[in-house]
Amino acid sequence: MIRIGPAGIPLSCKERTTVDGIIYTRCLGLSAMEIRFARSFVGEEEAKEIKKVAKKTDVALYVHAPYYINLAGNKNNVEMSRKKIEKTMHIGHLMGARIATTHLGFYGSLSKKETLKRIVKNLRDIRNAALEEGVEILLGLETMGKKEVFGSIDEIVEVCRRVSGTVPVLDMGHIHSRCLGCLREKEDFQRIFDKLECLSLSHYLIHLTGVKYNSEGELYHIPLKKGDMPVVKLMECILENDYDVTIISESPVVEHDAVYAQILLDRAMEMVK
Ligand SMILES: [Zn+2]
Repeated sequence: MIRIGPAGIPLSCKERTTVDGIIYTRCLGLSAMEIRFARSFVGEEEAKEIKKVAKKTDVALYVHAPYYINLAGNKNNVEMSRKKIEKTMHIGHLMGARIATTHLGFYGSLSKKETLKRIVKNLRDIRNAALEEGVEILLGLETMGKKEVFGSIDEIVEVCRRVSGTVPVLDMGHIHSRCLGCLREKEDFQRIFDKLECLSLSHYLIHLTGVKYNSEGELYHIPLKKGDMPVVKLMECILENDYDVTIISESPVVEHDAVYAQILLDRAMEMVK
């Protein structure tokens, strides 16, 4: 199954609550939504209400932890990051969200190997604490677009191999930026999925946006049509393999590009037939 939806409450939704955002998302013909805890978290009661509405409208929910996270930093960084991730998992669990996505951290002055080691250790602690609390939600580890940030596709796969309960979040715009625009053909997208084979996933969470980048990687997000990543090739790859995916639009024109992605998917479907 392929679900597509916006990151956050759609921009054109007049009412600014998450519940209204979910209903509006369904009205646009979309079937997924990522709720981002960028500035604040929703409360426990609201989370339970959101779960009911999402179930009724058949909109699959995902949550995203606050952006500034560093699981490879000093004690304070790690403590603060842990709190944010654990709270995201807890509220996500109450909402019935499938995956709680998070960023992981920076290399700083550390080697890539040491950064990975610290992140793995801290993720295991977070995972164990969640299990003890009865919090059942997968932790999604996002591929990052800037070269100074931990999160190349290979690093994410390695961490997922080592920490149970974690899955990769394929941010295609970030992957494309980090490899300086290497996603051109269907085969290029296939190579990304092939890298995940060792994880035996039955579902893939994908973030989608156009990106502007330079030699250091990602600069900022732009609408899909303005970017140079051929989204239709991604759709062909998904359809040919019959992958079960959820695509979240992180474009600056959020729901417009979610609907546009749906159109590209429908077009690719015609071609595969
Ligand atoms: Zn993210």
